[in-house]
Amino acid sequence: MKRIAILGSTGSIGTQALDICRRHPEAYRVTALTAKSSREKLFDQVRAFRPEMAGLLDGIRQEEIPEDLRFCRWLSGKEALHAAAAETEADAVLVSIVGIAGLQSVMDALEAGRQVLLANKEALVTGGHLVMEKAKAKGLPILPVDSEHSAIFQCLQGAGGNQPEKILLTASGGPFRTWKREDIRKATRAQALKHPNWDMGAKITVDSASMFNKGLEIMEARWLFDMPESRIEVVVHPESIVHSAVAFTDGAVIAQLGVPDMRVPIGYAMSYPLRKTTGVPAPDLFALGKLTFERPDEDKFPSLRMAKEALRAGGAACTVLNGANEEAVARFLRDEISFGEIYDLVARALDALGGLPATCLEEIFEADRRARKVVKER
Ligand code: NAD
Ligand code: MG
Repeated sequence: MKRIAILGSTGSIGTQALDICRRHPEAYRVTALTAKSSREKLFDQVRAFRPEMAGLLDGIRQEEIPEDLRFCRWLSGKEALHAAAAETEADAVLVSIVGIAGLQSVMDALEAGRQVLLANKEALVTGGHLVMEKAKAKGLPILPVDSEHSAIFQCLQGAGGNQPEKILLTASGGPFRTWKREDIRKATRAQALKHPNWDMGAKITVDSASMFNKGLEIMEARWLFDMPESRIEVVVHPESIVHSAVAFTDGAVIAQLGVPDMRVPIGYAMSYPLRKTTGVPAPDLFALGKLTFERPDEDKFPSLRMAKEALRAGGAACTVLNGANEEAVARFLRDEISFGEIYDLVARALDALGGLPATCLEEIFEADRRARKVVKER
């Protein structure tokens, strides 16, 4: 029996993780559930999974908790996130909240000696060096949930300890892959929210359209697999069947294939090193017929170049890119700026703040705040 705390249980990743728990009641017990504001959904989950504790970031008063849900400990705000990451009797903590808020939770979970199942890529983007250092010091693995990183992790199980020469990070290319640069800049909210292959939360869906998501994933791979950015190559693969691959010195490439369904990487992180059913079938290669691959177009999607430059710059540059992008996406979703302005605002923040340091959590959070301010004030 594995005891799991789920941070961000009402989101896209969180609900799919609970589907897997429901499928294997003999294998998983849920110790904590947290959400930002979706209380009705959280109430239903607490009713079904009976965790030790539950919490809402936006807060809840004692009298607002339904009678039948008072068996568990209810917390509000950051205290709820901290308790879920570090205080319940969990073996593993699934960090599936969105944004830089995940960094503190990952550090808390590691500090408390919990295995981290990591969906929140922002934790590695902003504090990758601190997270990996802490994981190493504690002798704990970071098990990736992001589909590409899960794929790389799975490929490396067959590497026998050999360091790969290269990581081939696949990308669907998003809804604007075949569009012209000028048209992408004018894309609407509805167009950006329509991902061809994956059903995900709003923020990451917009990031997939801008390809900032792939930029963030280059950073994530850099830290998870200790691989310099120069040896991580983005490969556009519109079918989203090959979830990534690793190339070795002898010319061999190992890839991981599957239909685009997050329950596979979520389930693998949960059951690692075993495999358990997820409800997802294997891809039908006969029906697919062929798989295609393209080079990414960095003129159309400057996000990829910006991400690599930020990695090379070091310090808080990746945090600035991430914070500025998070704020710009929020503004785009409120119809305050155009799609093209997301790129412009991130570039502006990097110009202004790209040299900030990131030697500790405080400096990272400060760089994040300042990057957001640049974007908010524009
Ligand atoms: P989502 O928006 O669907 O869900 C986010 C969850 O976190 C919700 O439960 C919400 O209540 C909670 N939350 C939101 N803001 C919070 C905050 N500031 N503090 C605490 N909790 C907060 O998001 P998602 O699509 O499930 O993505 C979660 C994470 O997983 C993101 O980092 C994303 O990049 C990553 N990820 C998602 C997918 C996917 O398929 N959805 C794939 C790969 C990686
Ligand atoms: Mg991904």
